[in-house]
Amino acid sequence: MDRKIFSEEHEIFRASVRKYIQANIVPKYAEWEEAHCVPREMWIEAGKQGWLCPNAEEEYGGLGVDFLYNVVLTEEMSFFGVPGFFVSLHNDVVYPYIERFANPEQKKRWVPGCVSGEKILAVAMSEPDAGSDLASLRTKAIRDGDHYVVNGSKTFISNGQLADLVVVAVRTDPEAQPPHRGISLLVVEADTPGFTRGRNLDKVGFHAQDTSEMFFDDCRVPVENLLGVEGAGFKFLMENLQQERLALAIGGAAAAAGTLAVTLDYVHERKLFGQTLSKFQNTRFELAEVATKVQLARTFLDDLIVRHIAGESLVKEVSMAKWWVTDTQFEVADRCLQLFGGYGYMKEYLVSRFWVDARAQRIYGGTNEVMKELIARHLGL
Ligand SMILES: Cc1cc2nc3c(=O)[nH]c(=O)nc-3n(C[C@H](O)[C@H](O)[C@H](O)COP(=O)(O)OP(=O)(O)OC[C@H]3O[C@@H](n4cnc5c(N)ncnc54)[C@H](O)[C@@H]3O)c2cc1C
Repeated sequence: MDRKIFSEEHEIFRASVRKYIQANIVPKYAEWEEAHCVPREMWIEAGKQGWLCPNAEEEYGGLGVDFLYNVVLTEEMSFFGVPGFFVSLHNDVVYPYIERFANPEQKKRWVPGCVSGEKILAVAMSEPDAGSDLASLRTKAIRDGDHYVVNGSKTFISNGQLADLVVVAVRTDPEAQPPHRGISLLVVEADTPGFTRGRNLDKVGFHAQDTSEMFFDDCRVPVENLLGVEGAGFKFLMENLQQERLALAIGGAAAAAGTLAVTLDYVHERKLFGQTLSKFQNTRFELAEVATKVQLARTFLDDLIVRHIAGESLVKEVSMAKWWVTDTQFEVADRCLQLFGGYGYMKEYLVSRFWVDARAQRIYGGTNEVMKELIARHLGL
């Protein structure tokens, strides 16, 4: 598919990313899945490649390039089925909190490490009793002189074992009404006493990801680690979720394209009843439908990417993209896996990884039901 939103420079970058993934990530990925974690050295390597926070300003070590470079990275990692090396979380989801809401002194402290891979990022919103209902979060941060004393726990935190800097949503004003006005964002450095990582959670899929619990036990975080002002946290979260959800949808469409690619290869090879699998009408119709959906997803997303870069507010459209594309990604993975027969259920076939990884996409970043609520609200319902 010819995609007009990318320049020749983006395509040159894409070719180099693709080559690097094929040579250095694909061959090692199964090992990382076994370890449920990507080696820290890979983050340093990614930094050397210019993959981390590519849009960071040059004075902080970034390349100062546009969001389309992030899109290329997210697409390529997802297309090759290696999204557990969660560069997209670092670049598209967490770094924007620092880019948009950190002051120059904070940026000087943190951004160079985010670009080099020495400071891996995570964002901790979800708690055992507060996921979709984020405004009810309970982790408290009570001011004591020059520090906030943080107590509480977070769960399901991506990059949780590796993260060096965690953007943590905390309640700084327990009395605020409505409650979301009492939420603030603190950047917690992983070596702060009182911060501990919990289990690296045992998941159904997305195995290379170190999705983890986090605990805060009288964790004293300096006041200078507050992002923006007290009470603005919920607003900041809502502002950044547009890009987070767009990135998840972009990864979803690329993963669906990758699933189609491996399935096309397979149906050409597999022989049964004296012909190749590709010759059966069911195969042809299934893959014709899958290819149509992949193209629809890409076309919709390309429009949203351009409008997002232009600064448009796209809450309704991005919510549509997040639910539809990730539901479609899972449907594509399921239909393609079926074409592999028993082999599709075996881990050694990439289609099985596309299938298990796709499942999580409908849950994180705001569940797909929450996306439909947001759309309905924008319809005046
Ligand atoms: C692999 C993985 C990685 C994650 N990474 C992170 C991370 O890095 N940082 C982070 O903070 N969190 C992360 N999460 C957490 C994720 O964002 C939450 O799981 C998600 O927001 C849902 O919250 P919950 O699990 O508490 O489910 P609940 O909120 O309890 O939802 C239960 C069910 O209720 C439905 N529901 C909720 N609200 C409504 C409504 N208004 N109307 C109708 N139905 C509704 C939901 O759709 C769901 O089906 C991750 C989760 C996973 C699985």
